[in-house]
Amino acid sequence: YKKFNFCLLLFLGGSLSLQAQQNTSTKVEALIGKMTLEEKVGQMAQITLDVIGKGNDRFTSAEPFSLDKQAMEKALLKYKLGSVLNTSNNRARTPAVWFDIISQIQKTAMKNKGIPVIYGIDAIHGETYTAGATMFPQQIGQPASFNRQLVHRAAEITAYETRASSIPWAFSPLLDLGADPRFPRQWESFGEDPYLIAQMGVQAVKGLEGEHNDVGNPIRVASSVKHFLGYQVPISGKDRTPAFISDQALREYHLPPFKAAIDAGAKTIMVNSGLINGVPVHANPKILTDLLKKELGFKGLVVTDWGDIENLYQRDRVAKDNKEAVMIAINAGIDMSMVAYNYEPFCDDLVALVKEGKVSMERIDDAVRRILTLKFELNLFEKPVTNPKDYPEFGSKAFEDAAYQAAAESLTLLKNKDQVLPLKAGTKILVTGPNANSMRTLNGAWTYSWQGEKVEEFATAYHTILKAMQDKAGKENVTYVPGVSYKMDGKYFEEYEDQLDAAVAAAANVDVIVLCLGENSYTETPGNLSDLYISELQTKLATRLAATGKKIVLVLNEGRPRVISKFEPQMAAVLQTYLPGNFGGIAIADVLFGKVNPSGRLPYTYPQFPNALFTYYHKPSESRSTTEGVYNYDADYNPQYVFGQGMSYTTFAYSPIKLSSEVLKANEKLTVSVEVTNTGKVAGKESVLLFSSDLVATLISPDAKRLRGFDKIELQPGETKTVIFQLSPQDLSFAQADGKIITEAGEFSLQIGNQKVNFNYVP
Ligand code: BGC
Repeated sequence: YKKFNFCLLLFLGGSLSLQAQQNTSTKVEALIGKMTLEEKVGQMAQITLDVIGKGNDRFTSAEPFSLDKQAMEKALLKYKLGSVLNTSNNRARTPAVWFDIISQIQKTAMKNKGIPVIYGIDAIHGETYTAGATMFPQQIGQPASFNRQLVHRAAEITAYETRASSIPWAFSPLLDLGADPRFPRQWESFGEDPYLIAQMGVQAVKGLEGEHNDVGNPIRVASSVKHFLGYQVPISGKDRTPAFISDQALREYHLPPFKAAIDAGAKTIMVNSGLINGVPVHANPKILTDLLKKELGFKGLVVTDWGDIENLYQRDRVAKDNKEAVMIAINAGIDMSMVAYNYEPFCDDLVALVKEGKVSMERIDDAVRRILTLKFELNLFEKPVTNPKDYPEFGSKAFEDAAYQAAAESLTLLKNKDQVLPLKAGTKILVTGPNANSMRTLNGAWTYSWQGEKVEEFATAYHTILKAMQDKAGKENVTYVPGVSYKMDGKYFEEYEDQLDAAVAAAANVDVIVLCLGENSYTETPGNLSDLYISELQTKLATRLAATGKKIVLVLNEGRPRVISKFEPQMAAVLQTYLPGNFGGIAIADVLFGKVNPSGRLPYTYPQFPNALFTYYHKPSESRSTTEGVYNYDADYNPQYVFGQGMSYTTFAYSPIKLSSEVLKANEKLTVSVEVTNTGKVAGKESVLLFSSDLVATLISPDAKRLRGFDKIELQPGETKTVIFQLSPQDLSFAQADGKIITEAGEFSLQIGNQKVNFNYVP
């Protein structure tokens, strides 16, 4: 009876949503039928708030934000633009101010056939541009938790707080392959592993959009998975420069996370600003139409990245002028242009192109259909703004707890010589380093402003590492001397000696040094690097402190793995904290003192040398870098720390792996199980990772491991739990040279913890 009821519900749910889809489609077609060409083209343009705002920065005041009425009417009534993004004057505003701004925008826009604007924002690790929003660890820290629920919850809360700001569209998550630490946005990714990115990407999409992508629910937002495709691997390691990606690599590593997100119903996609194999992605119909819209069946909205149609003629020179650039991009499959500023040439040129027959009316209608469908699905016609009063949980303790939890589970203990950690009560501690007393470095960019440069202004209620250590250890036990500091005058990487001698001298009077090193906040172009080694001044501080002979706990707070091999051997313990967000300071102190048992694992390979950048799944043959028999270990695969590395204050024992069969057949599943026991003295969480290797294969060399499953469990001392994975032949597949996906027959090996077992795939 129960089963029947459940089926009935499912059936009703399914047919209701089909009905809703049909209703939406009827409304969209009716509206399109009434729209002029100019109105349709206007829908396809997105401008930044700066264009219509006065840059008024009264973010804390209850007074209305001032929009420039003339500029707004020109954009929304004359040009009938369909979308606005981000903030004005690069700063966060309270939900009440957002409500006021967006109410005025919608009131103006809807004078035209009742069509609301869709407002989009970079809600990256929380609602970036809302004052008081809850800030989670940046994306790179989230997968380190290997905890799907935490990633889901972070996205869910971000959606809530974004809607509480009247904004229904988040430019998140980022599903690029974070495989190159030279790239200035590795920290915005879920790390280097395609499976991990896909798994966490789906959680983020579902958290933002809801389990059934019911974005009409006013606590959900539309996601925008980005940057389709291959954004983070340019040959130079620098932002928005050319990448060369084979069909094999594209399908093996870059595509799976996007495919998973599309299958999970992601509503929108943002395009890669760069070039692949010489062709700007914004000009590539093979990627945007053939692959994305046809092969993957993506029905949602494709938006450009910032000013990227202009880039086609100004930067890439694949078009001679704006008009040709617009033609190329729209015909390639772009639905909406994030023109940012220059909307008139975009709109005027596109109208002319349609009149000249160079862009078809079908293409325009297809784009507008996707845009209006989303606006209906978001219920913007009925509810163009959402009142902050209906969001009592905004910035609540429960949300803060979720951010703390996510930070705590992301922290990754990489080394703990002689069990220097956890620290004992009463230990005399020197806290030092440029990252010790900064909310900006804990958060990274996209925090209340673009580069995170204004974070201190909004984050006073939260704790830096220093403050959290003082609270935890007692002020009398903590000495603070910065040693090195970041310049705060707009130069992103400049540092200066800040009582370095005093820091070294202070070491004499303490038991342990907590050395907080890393990077200042940055994103996009200001984050390009010429040297992956951690800075010279920080190296000097570490080396001089090491010479004192005192035990050093190195706390890394960085967006990407900066090379530390010059002094790492002298460190007693190393804790990678990534960019853990507003509650990172407290979580770090809790781990250092053992209140929290660390359970994070590295979501990337930590290199030991700047010229030895490998992912863990590189082919062994690729790392042999010199002539036969002579290995250049500096350039070989010899990382500082491996992908998946992470220690605990307890110990876990793994039983031999059990398989449901020694042979896997086509259309069957293999059940893989292992027992994990906490053999130590304290409770702990363990991320259980399943890797496979295809022992003989035409393309993936023997021993190249790939992550195929993970689970996170919590165990009390002495407790045992069984972890079960299911593998299908598809899970063992790989892309061939031509991009086709196959699973080859033969022997495979599986690894979980220190256990290994082999089986055969016999299709
Ligand atoms: C970034 C995107 C971002 C957009 C809007 C671009 O420069 O590449 O990730 O969503 O700006 O701010």
